Amino acid sequence: MAKSKYEYVKEFEEDDKLLRNVYILVRIDGKGFHKFSAAHEFAKPNDVRALNLMNHAARSVMHELDDILIAFGESDEYSFLFRKSTDLYQRREAKIVSTVVSLFTSAYVYYWSDYFQDSRRPLYPPVFDGRAVLYPSEVEVKDYFAWRQADTHINNLFNTSFWALGTDSKDKNEMLFTEFNTNYSKLPAIFRKGSVLLREQIPKEMHKDAIIPTLPETLPGSMSASASLTSSTSSTLEQSVPEPALESSGQ
Ligand code: ATP
Ligand code: ATP
Ligand code: MG
Ligand code: MG
Ligand code: MG
Ligand code: MG
Repeated sequence: MAKSKYEYVKEFEEDDKLLRNVYILVRIDGKGFHKFSAAHEFAKPNDVRALNLMNHAARSVMHELDDILIAFGESDEYSFLFRKSTDLYQRREAKIVSTVVSLFTSAYVYYWSDYFQDSRRPLYPPVFDGRAVLYPSEVEVKDYFAWRQADTHINNLFNTSFWALGTDSKDKNEMLFTEFNTNYSKLPAIFRKGSVLLREQIPKEMHKDAIIPTLPETLPGSMSASASLTSSTSSTLEQSVPEPALESSGQ
């Protein structure tokens, strides 16, 4: 096709290709979900319908984007880890982040009524933001997920105490137990530890040429909310895996 005289404006676009051969991590987070959760009468501190809807939306993202290996969700956020070798959109950052955010958000609304059965759709359109972060090795990747899961735990302990006590308090576990008959460690894992979605692994023999070893089996012990994580002994992060068999913890 012949170029129009206006074509030059395309040259104003910046190259935002992400560095090759490093992990791409995309995290999305709900905008103003403190208010959104109040407006939609989420159970406090943890509305399990809302968490399951988040998980469903994340599963939709993983179905669409094959190069996502693992995803972790808590509260109004979700993290998606892409394989190092992904060439999705030639690694263009804006395309990758905007696609994840858009797909997640539309799925969240699309599946809303499956989880909030008393309403056909949310009272107003929910908004999610997104960012990409690059991590050079499995050390940072594992620490990243440990960081997010520590956040889940700290927030949940605070929130559980807050909603029980009406205020912050020292020695929350003890007070919860003695005064509120709540054994914190017995609360559902989906509240304490978040959710993990893991692409099902395929046997090693089928991937003799796989080069990058074993992130799932070496994830921190604190991630053990998902049995599939700790039991995936024949996996490597850089394998290509066809069908997402997505499991989430705490359900
Ligand atoms: P920002 O736009 O800066 O992200 P925010 O209000 O979304 O602001 P966050 O730090 O992301 O703040 O916190 C999300 C809030 O959403 C939580 O503090 C909690 O009040 C609420 N929330 C999210 N998921 C749930 C849930 N499953 N059950 C109950 N409340 C939830
Ligand atoms: P990519 O993912 O690369 O954007 P694409 O299939 O979306 O691929 P575009 O160049 O964005 O390709 O073109 C969008 C296409 O969507 C159009 O070529 C047309 O076929 C279709 N389309 C969009 N809007 C309409 C409309 N209102 N009526 C009919 N067809 C439409
Ligand atoms: Mg935030
Ligand atoms: Mg938020
Ligand atoms: Mg948040
Ligand atoms: Mg298009």
